[in-house]
Amino acid sequence: MARLSRLRWPGLLVASCLLALAVTPVQAVKTIESVRLHRAPDHTRVVFDLPKRVDHTLDKLTDPHRIVVDLEQAELDFDVDRLDIADSPINRIRVGRHENHTTRVVFDLNKAVRPRTNVLKPVDPHGWRLVVDLHDEEKKPVKSMAGAETEEGHRAMVVAIDPGHGGEDPGAIGHSGTHEKRVVLDIGQRLRKLMEDEPGIEPVMIRDGDYYVPLAERRKIAQERHKADVFISIHADAFGNPQAHGASVFALSNSGATSARAKYLARMANESDRVAGVAQSEQNNNGLLGVLADMTMSGSMTHSIYLGKRILRQMDQITELHGDRDEVEQAGFAVLKEPSMVSVLVETGFISNREEERKLTSPDYQYRMARSILEGTKSYFERHPKPGTLFAARRNNDTDQYEIQRGDTLSGIARQYSVSPQKLRAANDIDGDVIRPGQTLRIP
Ligand SMILES: [Zn+2]
Repeated sequence: MARLSRLRWPGLLVASCLLALAVTPVQAVKTIESVRLHRAPDHTRVVFDLPKRVDHTLDKLTDPHRIVVDLEQAELDFDVDRLDIADSPINRIRVGRHENHTTRVVFDLNKAVRPRTNVLKPVDPHGWRLVVDLHDEEKKPVKSMAGAETEEGHRAMVVAIDPGHGGEDPGAIGHSGTHEKRVVLDIGQRLRKLMEDEPGIEPVMIRDGDYYVPLAERRKIAQERHKADVFISIHADAFGNPQAHGASVFALSNSGATSARAKYLARMANESDRVAGVAQSEQNNNGLLGVLADMTMSGSMTHSIYLGKRILRQMDQITELHGDRDEVEQAGFAVLKEPSMVSVLVETGFISNREEERKLTSPDYQYRMARSILEGTKSYFERHPKPGTLFAARRNNDTDQYEIQRGDTLSGIARQYSVSPQKLRAANDIDGDVIRPGQTLRIP
C-alpha cells in the first residue's frame, strides 16, 4: 500500500494515506506467495493460499479452451512454472498484471473442463484459500475389479485400500515435517503390490496419488464401483502427548468411543473434508444411526472386529501395539460408515512420536507394516471365507467346519455360509440358538 502510493503521489505519501483511510476504505493489495496443484483421476485442483480473503472472477473461453481467473487487489509472488501440470489438461499457465491491481491467471487447456471455484475460510493448517477445480469433461472408463475371477474359477475377495488424507489435507505432520498423507500412500501402495501377488485377493486403491477424495466418496468408490468386500483405511496420526506410540486398529462404534483417544482420532479424521476444502454440500454424512443398525444386522460390525484382531495379531510381531492392547478400538469414523463392507481403520503408528516418525518413513518398516496387514487380512479370510470365493473353496477342501468366535450368533453364521439356521442346527444337533465360543460347527 505505502509503496504503491509513493509511486503515484510522490511527496504526498502521508497525506494520501490518511485521506484514503478517512474517505474510502482502499483495500490493500494482497500478496499471494504460494500456489499448489493436485492432479486427481477426474479433476485438477489449483489452490491459491491467500493472506486474506480475495475477490475473484472466473471466465471460461473456448477456441482454444482457456480458463481465466482474475484476482482482485492481489499480486502473485510465485513462479507458476514450478507447478507440475503433467497428466492434467493444462498446457500452460500465464500470469499478467492488469489495472486496478488485478492479477490475471490464464490456464491454457488442451481440452474442455468444467471449472468451479471456492473460497475457503482458514482451517488448521491452512489460512484463507481460493480453490479452482477443473473437472474433466470426458470421464475415463473406470476399470472395475468387481467379480474378478481367480484361475480356479472362484471369485477373489476385493479389498479396498484407502490411504488417508491427500492433496490439500496433509493429515498429521511430524516433528521432522513428515506428512501423514505421504507415508500412508507408501504403505498402501506396498500393500497393493503384496495383495496383487496373493491368489484369491484383488486389491483396489481408493487414492493412488497426492490428491484428496472426500470421505463419503471413498466408501462409495469401494462399494459401488468395486463391490469391495473389505475396506482398509490406513493412517498414521498424531496425539498431543509426544510419548504416545504404537499401532492400533479401529472399527466403527455402535455405542460411543471405546477410549478418549479413539474419540479424539475419529474427530480429527472426520475433519479431513474441511481441511481438504470439500464443499459442505458434498460432505454427505448420512445418518449414522441407520448405518449402525444395518451394520449390526448384516454382521459386518462383528466381522470388522474379527478382521481388526487378526491384523493386530500380525502387527504385534513387527511393532509395539498402542498401550500394549490387542483389542480393536471403536469410535465414529465417518469413512467406515458403510454397512455392506467389513471396514477397519489401521493406525500404523504415531507420526507425532519422533522414533515412530523415523520408522514410518523407512521403506523397510513400511514393507513390514504392509506385510502384517496382508497376513492379518488373509488369516481373517481363511477363518471367515465368503461363499463362492477361492478362500471358501480352499476351506471346503480342507474341512467344512467353523470355529465359533465371541460375538457370533447362529443366525449370523448361517447367513455367512448361505445355509438356513434350521439346516445348521440339524447338522450340529443343536436345539435352540445357544452356541459357545470355541465350539466347532459342521457347515452343511
Ligand atoms: Zn489420519
